[in-house]
Amino acid sequence: MNYTQAIKEQKRVALETGKSFFELILISRMWNSLHGGVYAPVTEKLKPNPYLKTPMRDIHVNKDLTLTMINPAFMTRQLSEIAIEKRRIQFHITSLNPIRPENSPSEREKQYLKAFEKGIKEVGISTDRGSSFFYMGALTTEKTCLGCHAEQGYKQGDIRGGISITFPFTMDPPIFFLLMGHLMIGAAGLCCSIIFGSRLGKAYTTIQQQALIDALTEIPNRRSFMETISRELKRSHRLKKPLSIILCDIDNFKLYNDTYGHSRGDRCLKRIALGIKNTLTRPVDFCARYGGEEFVVLLPDTSMKGAGHVAEKICLSIHGMNIAHERSLPFKAVTISLGVSTLDGAAFLSSDELLKNADMALYKAKENGRNRVELFNSPVV
Ligand code: GH3
Ligand code: MG
Ligand code: MG
Repeated sequence: MNYTQAIKEQKRVALETGKSFFELILISRMWNSLHGGVYAPVTEKLKPNPYLKTPMRDIHVNKDLTLTMINPAFMTRQLSEIAIEKRRIQFHITSLNPIRPENSPSEREKQYLKAFEKGIKEVGISTDRGSSFFYMGALTTEKTCLGCHAEQGYKQGDIRGGISITFPFTMDPPIFFLLMGHLMIGAAGLCCSIIFGSRLGKAYTTIQQQALIDALTEIPNRRSFMETISRELKRSHRLKKPLSIILCDIDNFKLYNDTYGHSRGDRCLKRIALGIKNTLTRPVDFCARYGGEEFVVLLPDTSMKGAGHVAEKICLSIHGMNIAHERSLPFKAVTISLGVSTLDGAAFLSSDELLKNADMALYKAKENGRNRVELFNSPVV
């Protein structure tokens, strides 16, 4: 797209250059015709113009000096000779009906002169395999032109001919710089993508982690637990291994909040979460905040007996933290009740059923006096 644009731009510049030359020639011609032609001494190089039919064409000043009239057409021709010789710029004043036979149009000029008669004012094309530019503008008959051209039947405003200008102009867009520019932009874009992409990736990972971590206790949240249990359930079915869960609930926690205030309650929740987490030893064991003052522990590849032991350990360790709770009788310390349920590897149980069983065991633990562990007594065999 840029390459096409560059070519278009170059063509526009070439056209404007051609037009400027053309305008300059027109202005010089106008200057000449305003004076009704100008006189210059006849020399070896400047002979009177035989096609100029005017009574005052030559003026004999004395035996050594004769002046001859240079009209606009004659002047243009002379200018074109200088231009081609000194600047390799070629002017050609031409017409479909020339007074001077040398002003007859070339095939190309003839084609454009016909186009001018149909209303086109200018043309510009790249020639000589892109090394030159050809511009041609229409010559309109002005009042001052009628002195010489009225006898050809032209009226003011008629298209009388045109001036073609051919000048060196290479239509070579700066392909190397375009290419380098695009490569550099591409490389910069790639660097930015890598830098910002990796930052975005990190940010995404952080957000993802945050979505799975409980803000208060900084342990995994319920959503994370649900993802983990569904993964572990499938694994347990596949490998025919048991899977146990422990549901933990802080005893009389409402009373704790009422006694010590909500913010101390929050700090207590944090400590309990850490206490449960620290009791777990195997890397595959997983604990999460299940809701309010409830926590859940997931023990892959663990039988009910094993899970019971872990639950006892957690229960003791929380009691052993000795967090004062005056109104939780008879312990006067923060304690938790735990319900255990197990999925035997041979049977199928959904996560909801497993959780329901653990909840029933937990209810029993509450009923039986709190600060204790109960196992769901109808494990699937
Ligand atoms: P139980 O021994 O039967 O479990 O009694 P409980 O008081 O612990 O249970 P209940 O369901 O009556 O009350 C739970 C309390 O846990 C009520 C609620 O204010 C408190 N709680 C839940 N989430 C939070 C929390 O994020 N921060 C604090 N400080 N308290 C919470
Ligand atoms: Mg509760
Ligand atoms: Mg409770």
